[in-house]
Amino acid sequence: MDPAGRPDPLAFIGDELAAMRENHLYRPLRVMSSAQGPVAVMDGREVISLSSNDYLGLSHHPRMKRAAIEAVERYGAGAGAVRTIAGTMTLHEALEAELAAFKHTEAVLTFQSGFTANTGVIPTITGEADLIVSDELNHASIIDGMRLSKAPRKVFKHADPESLRAVLAEAVTAGRDGHGQPYRLILVVTDGVFSMDGDIAPLPAIVEAAEAYGAAVMVDDAHASGVLGKDGRGSVSHFGLEGRVAIQVGTLSKAVGVLGGYVAGSQNLRDILVQRARPFLFSTSHPPAVAAACSEAIKIMVDEPWLIERLWANTRRFKTELTRLGFNTGHSETPITPVMLGNSETTIRFSSRLFEEGVFGTSVIFPTVALDRARIRTIVTAAHTDDQLDQALAAFDRVGRELGVIAG
Ligand code: PMP
Repeated sequence: MDPAGRPDPLAFIGDELAAMRENHLYRPLRVMSSAQGPVAVMDGREVISLSSNDYLGLSHHPRMKRAAIEAVERYGAGAGAVRTIAGTMTLHEALEAELAAFKHTEAVLTFQSGFTANTGVIPTITGEADLIVSDELNHASIIDGMRLSKAPRKVFKHADPESLRAVLAEAVTAGRDGHGQPYRLILVVTDGVFSMDGDIAPLPAIVEAAEAYGAAVMVDDAHASGVLGKDGRGSVSHFGLEGRVAIQVGTLSKAVGVLGGYVAGSQNLRDILVQRARPFLFSTSHPPAVAAACSEAIKIMVDEPWLIERLWANTRRFKTELTRLGFNTGHSETPITPVMLGNSETTIRFSSRLFEEGVFGTSVIFPTVALDRARIRTIVTAAHTDDQLDQALAAFDRVGRELGVIAG
């Protein structure tokens, strides 16, 4: 009730929150009062962080900070307009040229985030005459991009090229009208690395299936950028599929260490996105510091290959040790290692006990993953030292025994 005695029309929100708390599905935010890094201060406590996407440790790399500061000094704090009005700076265009050269594609267009790259590109290039075929575990931003498109969509079984082939065969036979009228475009969309499980999409078989049915492939390399392929060029480079994937979406917010997303592909693709992609047209462009630091990151990835080597060495060690301790780490092939715990109550409890032991490992629960697939999702980075990883593993061991997740 408000002071005039009227009922609160938003009262249902309180009920929903109470139900979430009751069902152990409410997650308070942890607040960081230090820079991002392998050790961070969260909720006032110094912890070893296993939860950032800062794969290469670039978010606090000295060259990145310098590039950002110089851009602020020269160009100011904000871009001041959307790209299509007065917000396109030389820094944005330079970053796009560098990314296109890095990705070996004709052109790149950057977006404010990986999320908006997906919600920008999918509805721009698909409509009623098209079909989108999506992996069932694709990222939320792909799902939202599909929701914003007028194109119908079909889903194939996770990372299953045979299921994809069956969907494509049926779609091509039936056509848009059920009588074989061809679609204008069939777009097959997949994550390159799946963010909750850490598995890599079987891209060669997906590309072959798509080619067999005249479909185009789009891969979202958010978690593959800076992680897979030569110098971190992504899953297309990892599998040697250059020229066979029409659209590569990448993020600048994870291994690149700053913020943003991009679409890499043909010049025509870039040109149509500039004219039509709604987040590009209706939301302000990156501040100068962001664009400059992203450019620097691409240079660092090429200049300092040992960062990616260290990332993978840490990944192998951490995964092997967790498995040796008796944890179920799913079927990850990348630095994302889920520690599968099942229900959300155990998972939240595990995460808070880890925190008390000085280790930050986020719990991932419904609706991000299925109700019975709750987990602690860990990501090691190039910046973690052996000693930090040993300490983290010892904490997992202690908490795992205490909660009966591993044999004690
Ligand atoms: N795609 C995938 C597969 C992701 O995992 C993420 C980030 N969780 C995004 C897109 C969004 O990227 P950003 O954080 O740059 O918006």
